[in-house]
Amino acid sequence: MAASCPECGAALPEGGACIDHFHALLLLEYEVLADPSVASGGRGEVAHFHAVSSYVLQHPEGMNYTAEAVVGLRRSLADHLAGRITLAEQRSRVRRAADGATRVTRRAGDEVTRWHVASWPMTVTDVLSGGVEGYCARVARWAESILRTLDEAGA
Ligand SMILES: [Zn+2]
Repeated sequence: MAASCPECGAALPEGGACIDHFHALLLLEYEVLADPSVASGGRGEVAHFHAVSSYVLQHPEGMNYTAEAVVGLRRSLADHLAGRITLAEQRSRVRRAADGATRVTRRAGDEVTRWHVASWPMTVTDVLSGGVEGYCARVARWAESILRTLDEAGA
């Protein structure tokens, strides 16, 4: 049986780690962005935000985020999906936080976020297996499923 990721539960690539899936995701996104209809109108940027936020939220430990940064990301993603903030507003929010003393990555002794989610309805491998077709909609669904799962888990 193939080993699975301790954080998201996805099957790991032969001899690899879940972060290899993340790199494959970024390569797939590069392909998706080659389509001018996606690249124009900011759809690609939104998809990138959904994809990276989703992966980070499912891997707060592996991606080495501080608990505060994870909370902020979750709130930004929820606000963006609900249409409360634009991507530009999300970026200026991140910039403001980064301008201060706030660190995004953990140092020794910092609290590690662990969600205690039994299983995620969607993982990075579900997004990868769909390929280029429908990528933007799929990463949005992935992001929504994560927020819903965290809410249901009371995390
Ligand atoms: Zn994983």
